[in-house]
Amino acid sequence: MGRKKDRNKGRERKIRIDLRRNRAERTRDQGEWTRLLHAGDDRQEETESAENVRAKGELSRKRTIVLHDEQFAAGRVHRGLVVAMRGLIAEVDDGEQLWACTVRRLLRTRLIKERHPLAVGDDVRFAPGEEGRIVIDDRELPEGVIEEAAPRRTTLLREYGRRLHVVAANVDQAVIVMAADMPPLRPHLIDRYLVAAQMGNMQPVVCVNKADLDAGGAAAAVVDRYARLGYPSLLTSVVEPRGLDRLQELLTDRMSVLFGPSGAGKSSLLNALDPRLSLKVGTLSDLDRGRHTTTTARLLKWAFGGYVVDTPGLRQFDVPNVAPAQLPGLFVELAELAGQCRFLDCSHRHEEACAVKEALEAGRISPERYESYCKMYEECAAKPKY
Ligand code: GDP
Ligand code: ZN
Repeated sequence: MGRKKDRNKGRERKIRIDLRRNRAERTRDQGEWTRLLHAGDDRQEETESAENVRAKGELSRKRTIVLHDEQFAAGRVHRGLVVAMRGLIAEVDDGEQLWACTVRRLLRTRLIKERHPLAVGDDVRFAPGEEGRIVIDDRELPEGVIEEAAPRRTTLLREYGRRLHVVAANVDQAVIVMAADMPPLRPHLIDRYLVAAQMGNMQPVVCVNKADLDAGGAAAAVVDRYARLGYPSLLTSVVEPRGLDRLQELLTDRMSVLFGPSGAGKSSLLNALDPRLSLKVGTLSDLDRGRHTTTTARLLKWAFGGYVVDTPGLRQFDVPNVAPAQLPGLFVELAELAGQCRFLDCSHRHEEACAVKEALEAGRISPERYESYCKMYEECAAKPKY
């Protein structure tokens, strides 16, 4: 990567990074990370065969663990969260300050093999680099070298055509933000986001914003519907204001992502909950929305504890590849009736003696939710598998 020398002599290690050159070359989409990792490696590693990499990896692993232990013993290993990716440089927050981290070659090689590029939200261990400091966007950050990335609890994926792309790791919670009006409230969209959140093992929260525009109470009724299904659900307004304390409570000490159509009020909610965010340009990367032209995700840290994934590109997205047979398990009220239909593989659409349709007729399932289910079922069935 740029000009880099990595010589291991016991505890003596020299890394030289010409970041200015890297920056010019590597401000690209995260989806290209794996390819860039290859391209960014020095020539020797680039031309190694898979066998060579493995053989070398085994040798290096021992050496790295020794280094690791030494550093641990010396109190030099830090733990932190990747809050942004800048080409091959990861910005890492250790709870106290930001670091600009490169990735140790051994780890990089393994990540390439496992098709598991680092992403924002990754929980990493790193050691301070020898070089001192790295300048990113006029901010001078201490240099670190990432040694290890912890296994992920969740992976937030996004489809680009037929390719899946890791947007963020370890996101616990998906807050689905819809407007009560302007744009008009579309409960079907909530159902789509709910499916996506659950597919990604994230706890969904339903947040209907712009409560001040809910003159007829229709939005409140929708919030009630989702609350009755067991989802944390709330009505908020940035204007009144309303519901913000509850939202903050739900966000505290978790890593969340806000989903929802453009104009629902996600940015307004972010700023209302933590006015500091927009002031944090200096330390938390560019929150300057005017400059947000890429879909690169970043983590923002709440003043009250926890993180939120900021990713303009995710605001509207497709439901990930769901097999039709999986879908009933992702609609809680249908999942509850599993096994009660005559046919084990009942799709709850045309079959006889279907417990779901009986519940629908008896008014125990909302017709809108059932309609969402049928619509999504057809889409999933029509979608090519890959
Ligand atoms: P985003 O695209 O989801 O990030 O939405 P924005 O935060 O940019 O908000 C879109 C518009 O909705 C802006 O004009 C906001 O001022 C407005 N807005 C946000 N929250 C509220 C609210 O609670 N009530 C009303 N009436 N307008 C809101
Ligand atoms: Zn059925």
